[in-house]
Amino acid sequence: MRFDVITLFPELIEPYLHTGVTRRAFASGIVQVCLWALRDFADGHYRRVDDRPFGGGPGMVMMAEPLYRCWQAVRADRGLPPVRAAGADVDVPTVLFSPAGTVLSHAVVTRWAQPQRPGAILICGRYEGVDQRFIDACVDEEISLGDFVLSGGEIAAVALLDAVARLQPGVLGDADSATQDSFHPALDGLLDCPHYTRPEVWQGPAGPVDVPAVLLSGHHAHIAVWRRQQRLLATARRRPELLDRAWQAGHVTPAEQR
Ligand code: SAM
Repeated sequence: MRFDVITLFPELIEPYLHTGVTRRAFASGIVQVCLWALRDFADGHYRRVDDRPFGGGPGMVMMAEPLYRCWQAVRADRGLPPVRAAGADVDVPTVLFSPAGTVLSHAVVTRWAQPQRPGAILICGRYEGVDQRFIDACVDEEISLGDFVLSGGEIAAVALLDAVARLQPGVLGDADSATQDSFHPALDGLLDCPHYTRPEVWQGPAGPVDVPAVLLSGHHAHIAVWRRQQRLLATARRRPELLDRAWQAGHVTPAEQR
């Protein structure tokens, strides 16, 4: 799958593509990422991409025309017609990162991570945001990282790319890693359980702290039961709505619910 990222700051995203476990997905091309510098599509000596908002008010707004030119170049590079006919099916979806969008979740990431999907054109906003006329004409979906405001969409783009990359087969060291993580349907969408590693006794600020004995028992069935209980407990305490969802889907037994 291919993701084209339109941004004023490709240099913010570039290092991420070469770092950490997910770099395998990008280096191998399982998840192909093309960075597009929006300023290359702007006019004039100053390559201006923003202007003051009509109606007044603080800040600047990203102009529609450079975005549109860049978007058309991306489509041409993908072998698509530069303009999508009105009413035509979405060939490659265009996503704008925006606080007003659908909040990113495991379900949303899973949808974008399907290998048969074409990826997307990702637009990273800056300043006060993007001229609404470009959004109306070219954007199919808006995605948010949550109810807070970032200075730009690049961090959101990296979040989506990272989450998509780690779901690709063979990208994580351990084949099962992603299925053992929080929110994964393989573990009924629950939160993860606590993890421990060596030493068995850690000299913490309040004195020595042991690892739960069951984890040292070597008894795999008991460990699996303990981990399941810990997942249920963590989810009940922190995200009860996720437990309700698992319960309604029939994934939690009455005994576990108690
Ligand atoms: N004026 C906008 C508002 O109040 O909703 C905020 C603009 S923000 C300073 C600049 C850009 O950062 C946005 O266009 C968007 O691309 C990105 N951004 C900010 N917060 C975000 C969030 N929570 N999720 C995704 N992208 C975000």
